[in-house]
Amino acid sequence: MLEARNESERIPSHKARTTLFLSAMRHHAAWLEAQGYRVDYTRIDRKEAASFTTALEAAIERHSAAELCMVAAGEHGVQQEIASTCEGCSVNIEVLPDGHFLCSIDAFRSWRDSRKTLVMEHFYRHMRQQHAVLMEDGKPAGGSWNFDRDNRKPFGRQGPGMVPDWPRFEPDATTQAVMQDVSRLFPDNPGSLEDFNWLVTREQALVQLDDFIANRLPAFGPFQDAMWDSEPFLHHSGLASALNLKLLSPREVIDAAVAAYASGDAPIASVEGFVRQILGWREYARGIYQARMPEYAELNALDAEQDLPAFFWTADTDMVCLREVLAQTLRYGYAHHIQRLMITVLFCLLLGVRPQRVHAWYLAAYVDAVEWAELPNTLGMSQYADDGIMASKPYAASGKYIQRMSNYCNECRYRPDVSVGANACPISLLYWDFLLRHRKQLSQNPRMQMQLRNLERMDRSRKKN
Ligand code: FAD
Ligand code: SF4
Repeated sequence: MLEARNESERIPSHKARTTLFLSAMRHHAAWLEAQGYRVDYTRIDRKEAASFTTALEAAIERHSAAELCMVAAGEHGVQQEIASTCEGCSVNIEVLPDGHFLCSIDAFRSWRDSRKTLVMEHFYRHMRQQHAVLMEDGKPAGGSWNFDRDNRKPFGRQGPGMVPDWPRFEPDATTQAVMQDVSRLFPDNPGSLEDFNWLVTREQALVQLDDFIANRLPAFGPFQDAMWDSEPFLHHSGLASALNLKLLSPREVIDAAVAAYASGDAPIASVEGFVRQILGWREYARGIYQARMPEYAELNALDAEQDLPAFFWTADTDMVCLREVLAQTLRYGYAHHIQRLMITVLFCLLLGVRPQRVHAWYLAAYVDAVEWAELPNTLGMSQYADDGIMASKPYAASGKYIQRMSNYCNECRYRPDVSVGANACPISLLYWDFLLRHRKQLSQNPRMQMQLRNLERMDRSRKKN
């Protein structure tokens, strides 16, 4: 096992992200040793820990290895690096499929080859049938495949009320030692460790799963898109990093949610909404990544070339929505899906930031960030850089969407319904600018017609402004 140093250097990984990865690894190594396995573990401060190449070359020499057997790496670049190091050392390599996912890479490829378009909803229904999840007598449970229409509620003026806290896990001696290493080796990396409460063992992950199912799943569905200031976690599960680190299997998480529906403890709209994220979006994103890399990482269908604004690293902005989401990201390494999709990456899309720069920030900023999940979500779903493989239209919206789904605009010096002049909401202004910039390219997209018609209605002088 290797704590590769350049994984925190090639992108300036959030301190909580690096701590989480390394602490989970050290706990797992200790567990393996307790089971009687021999573990060759290279810590981050060792010279050969500089990269996969240096560590692997040293390990091959140490063990006089003739063959390397590995589970396929999640990240394309890591797999390439290991393969070329083995080739350079004349070591045979055997790559085993990763059994963590419900859809193997071959199964995703054959689904892809049977379709004209790769619509996520079609993939999701196929997965529901194939894995018999939320199916009753061959039909979708609750009478519908998708309860998305019930899952877009804002909180209303009174706000979310009392939200159950996530369980608290005090950093143990292993995690504290990692925190010291991370603070010493990467003092300038972004993020704070003060509120570190991430899941570093399977036991903790099971506690978080049980707590989510009992206390937050029932309200997860209706409010999964809602946002509220000073409430970073709301009814979300906080399980993505534990899933990505394989402390939990997607099947057991799905089964726990489905069991809550079967026992009448959670409504179908919440359970289906949650299952769709894991059985649908998570597996789909990984399938797209594995089937399309390495070209996928270079796509830029909208020719966006701007720099990422510097305030993404400081949260120093007057725009309350961005300030809130960026500040909580720097504090915890967490923002929920809609805060990512409809605040931070929305701003990048509208401003025209080069997608590869957005990708680098997202991979660094979140504790759950792993390239196979992050890249399709950033480049495809949110920046439309893949020309519509992941999303049937760009997720472009004005400040009015943010006003409807949150209370951020209440305290903001800008007005979401104003798009020109001193009070203009920058997001609303950029929204119209985005449509103007890309109207020709988007005019063939049937799902953009309403937004483009609204643009056409705008008078000339306003467009000029
Ligand atoms: P919940 O809201 O409780 O959702 C339940 C679970 O569903 C998550 O734990 C996650 O495993 C899965 N999930 C939900 N949406 C997605 C999705 N679109 N793609 C993949 N899995 C999903 N998720 C990652 O795991 N790693 C990433 O690097 C990542 N990068 C993202 C980048 C952008 C720009 C966007 C818009 C989304 C990204 N997501 C990523 C998806 C999603 O935002 C996070 O999984 C989620 O916010 C994590 O919080 P949670 O565990 O409380 O999720
Ligand atoms: Fe964000 Fe605009 Fe609302 Fe301010 S007015 S919080 S910038 S959407």
